[in-house]
Amino acid sequence: MLTIKKLHKSYPIGDRSLHVLKGIDLSVEEGEMVAIMGSSGSGKSTLLNIIGMLDEADEGEYILDGVTIKNLTEKKAAIYRNKFLGFIFQSFNLINYKTAQENVSLPLYYQGLKRKERQEKSLFHLEKVGLRDWADHHPSELSGGQKQRVAIARALAANPKLLLADEPTGALDTKTSYDIMAFLQQLNDEGKTLLIVTHEEDIANMCKRIVRLKDGVIMEDVKVDQVRAEQYV
Ligand code: ADP
Ligand code: MG
Repeated sequence: MLTIKKLHKSYPIGDRSLHVLKGIDLSVEEGEMVAIMGSSGSGKSTLLNIIGMLDEADEGEYILDGVTIKNLTEKKAAIYRNKFLGFIFQSFNLINYKTAQENVSLPLYYQGLKRKERQEKSLFHLEKVGLRDWADHHPSELSGGQKQRVAIARALAANPKLLLADEPTGALDTKTSYDIMAFLQQLNDEGKTLLIVTHEEDIANMCKRIVRLKDGVIMEDVKVDQVRAEQYV
């Protein structure tokens, strides 16, 4: 699914530079569910954003689904992003003046689907996350957990190969977090590949593999026995 070799990333800070990723090697196979852990500021989001083609590395190699990701034009990057990737964020990133259904429809619009198809698909995905009856509601009328479900439906709408989630449970209480994790586990059971950034051990243990970042390098990369989230819901 993806291979990263000797990846480096620095940010300019005034006339100095902050070396955040210092030679990351990582491979992820189709069907994996991987947690990326590390303390705040350890570079988790930086790595996820590079994997998500929202940012570019300074050095190193990144191959996604057989395509070398390097010096892509913004247009090409957008095409690959739409084709390969779905994003889930801590703060949901829904558009407040659009309904749940319109939010889920947006990636389908960018894929060029006709109105009727967008409507059918967005309802199908809202149904999948258990929110078919909330299609016409705006984000302000939804709970945090419901908003994250809409965001997941939106991420799934374009049928991406890889789902990237940056602290998807970071803004949710424990029970709602486990509810969302149960849903993400179900998606992985169905074959979806997931990369989840978190700094919470209990969330990481609900994945199948944990990659730990420290001081810009991977200090540990282990397979774990997946804790099932549904037992807590
Ligand atoms: P994490 O997600 O693990 O908390 P980040 O990847 O967001 O960490 O950030 C890693 C480090 O890089 C932090 O010290 C952060 O302040 C810095 N950083 C992140 N993005 C930028 C940026 N656009 N410009 C300058 N520094 C940044
Ligand atoms: Mg972060």
